[in-house]
This record gives sequence, structure tokens and C-alpha cells, in this order.
Amino acid sequence: MKKSFLVLAIALILLGTLVVVRTAQFGTQQSEIEPVQGIEVDPAVLAERLGQALRIPTVSAQDPTKTNGDTFLALKRLFEKNYPRVHASLVREVVSDYSLLFTWPGKDQSLKPIILMAHMDVVRVDPVTESEWTHPPFSGAIADGFIWGRGALDDKGPAVAILEAVERLLKDGFQPRPTIYLAFGHNEETTGWGAEAIVALLESRGVEPEYVLDEGGRISSEVLGLGIPVARVGIAEKGYVSLVLTVESKGGHSSRPPAETTIGALSEAIRRLERNQMPSSIHPILRRELETLAPWLPYGQRLMIANLWLFEPFLEARFSSSPRGNAQIRTTTAPTVFKAGMQENVLPTRAEAVVNFRILPGDSIAGVIEHVRTTIDNPRVSVRPIEETSGEPSAVSNPDSPGFALIARTIRQIYPEVPVVAPYLVQGGTDARFYTRLSPNVYRFKPLLDEPETTHGIDERISIKGHARGVKFFVQLIRNSNGEI
Ligand SMILES: [Zn+2]
Repeated sequence: MKKSFLVLAIALILLGTLVVVRTAQFGTQQSEIEPVQGIEVDPAVLAERLGQALRIPTVSAQDPTKTNGDTFLALKRLFEKNYPRVHASLVREVVSDYSLLFTWPGKDQSLKPIILMAHMDVVRVDPVTESEWTHPPFSGAIADGFIWGRGALDDKGPAVAILEAVERLLKDGFQPRPTIYLAFGHNEETTGWGAEAIVALLESRGVEPEYVLDEGGRISSEVLGLGIPVARVGIAEKGYVSLVLTVESKGGHSSRPPAETTIGALSEAIRRLERNQMPSSIHPILRRELETLAPWLPYGQRLMIANLWLFEPFLEARFSSSPRGNAQIRTTTAPTVFKAGMQENVLPTRAEAVVNFRILPGDSIAGVIEHVRTTIDNPRVSVRPIEETSGEPSAVSNPDSPGFALIARTIRQIYPEVPVVAPYLVQGGTDARFYTRLSPNVYRFKPLLDEPETTHGIDERISIKGHARGVKFFVQLIRNSNGEI
């Protein structure tokens, strides 16, 4: 008895020592970076030009035939007026009616090109909330230190910042060594067809970029409740599929209902899906993010991350306890539409629901459908994907490439208050997913630091200072790309 107690005590001490030693070895991999000075810009002038772009309502239409082409033509003309050097020195092509591809030929054709992406379309403004905006959504108002309007953050702000940076570099007589493409889609918020067409064009020309940078991550002090500004660069994005669930019956009078109605069968199917979620795991991308951030976390959390072999189940439980955390560890299940019945005394002949899934890399559309069928386990419920909007999870880009290192270094040069840049999984969809056909190094980051989170919401706006800093980011990124890659 005593002996076994002793063995147990020794085992526990050894285990404890191992856990503590592993935690202690978990140091930062972030190197020292000197901030960059000397990129002078005039924030007021930059704000005025972004305001002009926000005044043009380039709203993305769900039905592509309903795109208001005039707005995109107006934005194109505004770009011509505001960025004359860009239009004199770069080759501009119009792709898929309104998307724009600019080519800035490099001096050294032996270098792989780089691609800077953004999108020009914006989501519509819900008419019900329009009156709640402090400044009208397409006013481009400049007030209280902000530039106001739909698209300020997503994604006209970054598109304009890229153009400002190139215009500025051209004024300075800068010539890129690698060829630089600026690729601006016009329907990212719906189909992404513009971006897809640009990719097809580049592919037909044999373009293999060193790296591609699109919107995605940003700098936030709210990551894992850290309270320090952390930059996250997306290396993959989740897939997307909506499944239509349908139950049909002969209907009939509500005075003689069957044991299982269409509404009952469909409700049970939905409830089963909510109770039996897709399996969870600390995905390798999340693991890498956590390991990168670990040195800044409180000791208890650092200890868990340094010893995932022991604590993974605890960490998973912790993540799954909040919607935001849960979305990081599994393919999510979200019932979004439920339709049945039209009159109080008539049994509906048909009940229909839509369930939206965001698919973790590693899972697939086929895997989701299989999971749904076996979980519902009722032949009366038919399951059909909405093909037009579905897409598999993206390929996972390399967080150890020179391109990632260059983006990370640029972030820390322009934002010296940022101690760490971490790779992560983007929860939403971006145009970048098409570009993985061209390069294994597709990254998702936009230069925003703790801007009010108003993307797709009321009072979307960007700070005047923040926009100016975004322009500096792209200037420095292009400069760095001349030396390193
Ligand atoms: Zn966007």
C-alpha cells in the first residue's frame, strides 16, 4: 500500500516537473524589429479621397444580373482622377465587367510577382437600420476623427489604401523589382466571380506569385482577452455549405393529424443536428496560433498550451463554451431558415429549413452531408445542398514562408506596439480562396488597429489616423518586397 502510494507520488512529481519545464521552454519566436520612420502622408487629404470613394454605393447584388454597373464605372473614374500616376504607369484591365486588375511591371522578371487584393463592392444597408446611422451610410462624412460610410473597413478602405501607396511610391520615383499586381474584385460579398475570373486570367498567363495578400485578419487587443494589440494573419478560411432540409406529406385537416407531421419531423431533425455537432479538435492552425501567442498568455493558459498532449480536452471544452471559440474548433451548424404552414387549421404538405455550415479545413461538403443524413436518421427528411453558394474549405497556406515573414515584419515596423503576429483561421469567406490555385502562400490581413467593429453593421467607419497608417503599411510592404523576395 505504502509502496504504491510512493510510486504514484513520484510519478506525479515527475509529471508536474515535465509540465513546468515544457512551459518554461515556451519562449517567444518573435524577433526584435525596428520601427520605420519617414513615410510622410497627409491624413486629411487621404481621408477626403477615401470619403469620395465611400460616397459611391457599389452595393453587391445577390443576383449578378442586377449589379448596378454605373456605380462601379463611377468608382473606376474616381480612381482615374485621384490616382493619375497609377493609371499612367500600371496596365489596367477590366475583368468580368467591373473587376480591375492592375499590373505594375517589375525591373527583375526573374523574380516571382506579388499580388495585393481588395474588393470594391460593399454589403447593402438594411433599410430598417438606415436611420440609426450617425451619418448616412453613403455620405463619406469626415467627422469626429473618422471617415464614415459603408465600405470604410470592408473593403474600400484597404483598396484605396493600396492605390494611395502605389501613387505615393510612383511620386517618389520608386520602381518595383518584382512585378506587382493589384487585383480588385467587384462581388466578393456575393459570388466572388470577379476574383475567380482574375485568377483564371492570371493562371492562363502562367502567373505564380511569391505571395498574395487579401483582407482577413487585423490587429486587435481582444484576441484571447490578452489586452495587448495582436496581429493575426489568416492562412486559411473555412468552407461553406447550406443544406435545404425538406419534409413532404399529403397534408390534410388539422382535426385528424398523423403521429408525425411535416413540422414535427423537421423540428426533430433540426434539434438532432444542434445536439449532435460535428466533431471538435484543436486544429493544427489553431494550435500554431496558440503556440505563437502563448508567451503573452497568463501562466495557467501557457501551461495548458505547452502541454497539449495532456490538456487538449480541457482546452477544447473551454473553446466550445462560447460561440466564437466553438467556431474555431469545429464545423459549425446554424439553422437559418424555417418555413412551414399557412393557415391555422391546415396541415402543411411541406416543411422546409436551411442549415448553414462553416466547414473546418479537413472536413468537406460531402462529409457534412453524410453527418447530417446519419444524424437525422429519418428517410422522410430529404437533404440537398445549395450548390451556387457552397465551397470547400481553402487550402492551408504556409506560415513559415518568406512571404509570411515579410508581411509580419512590415506589420511590426508600422505598428511597433504590436509584439506578436500570429497565423490563424479566418471564419468568414474572402476572395482569397480562389488564389490558392496560383500560390501556396495566400495570406489574409488588413492593416487596421482596434478600429470600432462595425463591419457590415451600423456606423461603419475608419479612423483618419488608422487609414493613414494603412497607407503607410502598404508603402512599406511594397518597399520590403523589393529587398527580400
Ligand atoms: Zn470584405
